[in-house]
Amino acid sequence: MARKELVEALRKIVGKTNVLDSLVDMQLYQYDAYLEERRPDAVVFVHSTEEVSGVVKVCNEHGAPFVPRGGGTNLSGGTIPARGGVVLEMIRMNKLLEVDKASLRARVQPGMFNLELGTALAPHGYQYMPDPASQKAATMGGNVAENSGGPHCFKYGVTTNHVMGMTVVLPDGEIAEIGGKAPDTPGYDLCGIFVGSEGTFGICTEVVVRIVRLSEGVKTMLAIYDSIERGSEAVSAIVAAGMVPATLEMMDQLVIQAVEQSIHCGLPLDCATVLIIEVDGLKDDLEEQCKAIADICTTHGAREVRVAKDDAERAMLWAGRRGAFGAVARLAPSYLVCDGTVPRTALPQVLRKVAEVGKKYDLKIPNVFHAGDGNLHPLILFDWRDKEQKIRVMKAGTEILELCVQLGGTISGEHGVGLEKMDAMKLCFSDADIRSQVALKRAVDPKDLANPGKMFPVTAEVACAV
Ligand SMILES: Cc1cc2nc3c(=O)[nH]c(=O)nc-3n(C[C@H](O)[C@H](O)[C@H](O)COP(=O)(O)OP(=O)(O)OC[C@H]3O[C@@H](n4cnc5c(N)ncnc54)[C@H](O)[C@@H]3O)c2cc1C
Repeated sequence: MARKELVEALRKIVGKTNVLDSLVDMQLYQYDAYLEERRPDAVVFVHSTEEVSGVVKVCNEHGAPFVPRGGGTNLSGGTIPARGGVVLEMIRMNKLLEVDKASLRARVQPGMFNLELGTALAPHGYQYMPDPASQKAATMGGNVAENSGGPHCFKYGVTTNHVMGMTVVLPDGEIAEIGGKAPDTPGYDLCGIFVGSEGTFGICTEVVVRIVRLSEGVKTMLAIYDSIERGSEAVSAIVAAGMVPATLEMMDQLVIQAVEQSIHCGLPLDCATVLIIEVDGLKDDLEEQCKAIADICTTHGAREVRVAKDDAERAMLWAGRRGAFGAVARLAPSYLVCDGTVPRTALPQVLRKVAEVGKKYDLKIPNVFHAGDGNLHPLILFDWRDKEQKIRVMKAGTEILELCVQLGGTISGEHGVGLEKMDAMKLCFSDADIRSQVALKRAVDPKDLANPGKMFPVTAEVACAV
């Protein structure tokens, strides 16, 4: 790949000012929210499906890998250009194109932030349910590519349950429509395959999503525990009692302390853990739901259950939860976010074992997570400048993922595989499973240009290629 010619060809598609190639600019695009770094050869700002297609065709002509980038908030190295090449900056494709109330669908460009979509839909009386905690900075394209979850996904399902159709630019530059507004389409579920593909099947340039009416009423409560095990037992008890709250989120003491220092939202500093539980639906039902859930929490050892008395108090609780990852940055220069899942009944056991892993490697590991989904986020604190610590962190992270798999869970709830978990794929897939997934990638992207060097152990890629 001759870089100068590549840059010239890209400029012919999108204009001179929309292609960056200086060293400083490349340094700005060499990292994301994960720990690795790799410099691209060029960064291109795209504004339309046609431009994306043109850029991808140029990449094909020059044998250049390409990586779409939204907010860069993924925590698994998904936007790091592992083999160099072109980063497509999607952020200017950020419009809400259509709100179709009769079909309960919205059509949106991939660079729109998740929160912006919610804000734009609210005046119409509608909402889009998946709500990653990063929603202020995470784009719809990134949400699609990572099959993102979020607090409300316990009740409403993750991104794949809400994406009905897409316009995509395939790895050879061809533009394709997959799915659509209709509830189901015959043949293979191509939307299902594309969602969660982490940019390895091409680039999504428009998304058709399911929207739902805004809830008539919402109530948010805080259950406070002196034991993390009792708190996590309550999660299963609530579900076993037939209750389906909109959220069931958990934060432990270290996280609570960091959140209080940074956001001051009134969380008790002396408890072991809190559950943030939200119920939504018809106003008349909410009191009864809250009471039933509060009773279960108390039976399972809650020392106090508070119901937010107004929207301001509710907003404060959510500011605390959504700001938790940021607040934890006060505790150490860096942290690795683990993202494993377990069946929710295994939460008490896995949390106990995560604490043991912390002791074994002499590392602090606070927890903040989507408890209802059994989706853990142990945050392993460390100092990135200390190479020896980093080795211990990686070992601890792998051990936590192994635990999740042993307990019947898996290695990623929502943050993707990216660079981080390529080898961990072997924990939950056989060689044959991995080979068939790599074969699918090869069928869609025979030249291996779409976000290459991600998701699969390198050995599997080689095995499939020969
Ligand atoms: C503080 C914090 C909290 C978080 N909380 C959550 C949470 O609650 N739930 C959750 O699921 N995740 C969470 N995440 C992870 C992350 O925010 C999500 O994975 C999010 O969906 C990534 O969106 P993004 O726009 O930043 O994507 P990026 O990081 O830019 O990209 C992610 C992947 O998508 C690909 N991609 C981007 N745009 C496109 C496109 N248009 N077409 C095809 N592929 C594309 C990229 O190549 C990359 O592989 C959190 C992250 C942080 C930092």
